[in-house]
Amino acid sequence: MNYRKLGKSGLLVSEVALGNWITHGAQVDDNTAQACVNAALNAGISTFDTADAYSETRAESVLGHCLKGIRRESIELCTKVFHPTGNGHNDRGLSRKHIMESCHASLRRLQTDYIDIYYAHRFDTTVSLEETFVAFSDLVRQGKVLYIGVSEWTADQITQGSALARELKVPFVASQPQYSMLWRVIEAEVIPACEREGIGQIVWSPLAQGILSGKYAPDKPIPEGSRASTAAGSPFFKRLAGQWLNKEVLQAIEQLGPIAQKCSLTLSQLAVAWVLQNPQVSSVIIGASKPEQVLENVKAAGVSLDAEIIMQINNVLKDVAQFDASKTG
Ligand code: NDP
Repeated sequence: MNYRKLGKSGLLVSEVALGNWITHGAQVDDNTAQACVNAALNAGISTFDTADAYSETRAESVLGHCLKGIRRESIELCTKVFHPTGNGHNDRGLSRKHIMESCHASLRRLQTDYIDIYYAHRFDTTVSLEETFVAFSDLVRQGKVLYIGVSEWTADQITQGSALARELKVPFVASQPQYSMLWRVIEAEVIPACEREGIGQIVWSPLAQGILSGKYAPDKPIPEGSRASTAAGSPFFKRLAGQWLNKEVLQAIEQLGPIAQKCSLTLSQLAVAWVLQNPQVSSVIIGASKPEQVLENVKAAGVSLDAEIIMQINNVLKDVAQFDASKTG
């Protein structure tokens, strides 16, 4: 495993991180969750990603349990606040009240005294940025949070947040957007804005939720037990990954097979390695429903793809990949 500096901060994160959205506390049982975390730790993954709202708060508890006994200084534990954690009118968003309450609940569920990177999971248009960043600043001063990040904020929102963070001396150093060979909307605006502010990218869904693994073939039934079968009813899955389950995209992905073979990589490894070629990416968060997936995908760390290969990949996907910066968020 290689470790990269997160933006302008001194924090090192593993090139490949493990996330537990959809899986822990929902799709997979606790023994499988433990096996995936063990596989990650054995492969040198030190960065773990979760959120207060994943699996109705169960995901953080499962991760806390799986990491029990691991030396705290050897891992980076990252979680988020914004999406609803309960039915109360204050159980959501980026108000001071919810940030403080949700952070304390996350610390309890994760069984830790501090969070390494605490993200605003989305931008909250109903709360002033000042209220949010003062709350973050207080958590940082109290030692409960070490670094601040945001997820799916636009370039303008990131620039405004950075100005406040500078004023309040808040270490705002991470951006967590979706990024893959198919979803490249951060390249035009978010990445340049972050680069100016010294913010690193820790990106999600590098396999477009499994689609770039090549297991969804055109004209073939959806494989039993796959995310497209188990999460097919979820509006989030439909909106994000459903758009790619069509013949045009799946045929394009098939064409990546020989390119992966040329590099002695599987399609999944090629997809993760492609993301890691971007020097603004500090870490790529993979998801896994089985430990074998962790073992396979983590081998993308340290892989260098030459310019000719990158050009071939980009050519194959040029008509199906999304580049539109206005789709951020
Ligand atoms: P991926 O794109 O890596 O998709 C992971 C899924 O793909 C697995 O659960 C598995 O699903 C399938 N898969 C993985 N490896 C293979 C393989 N080698 N062969 C075949 N299938 C494979 O990432 P996720 O969409 O899971 O996102 C990763 C993490 O990013 C999340 O856990 C979360 O931490 C973070 N995230 C953040 C968001 C945000 O708003 N900030 C939003 C979404 C995710 P299966 O076996 O079930 O088909």
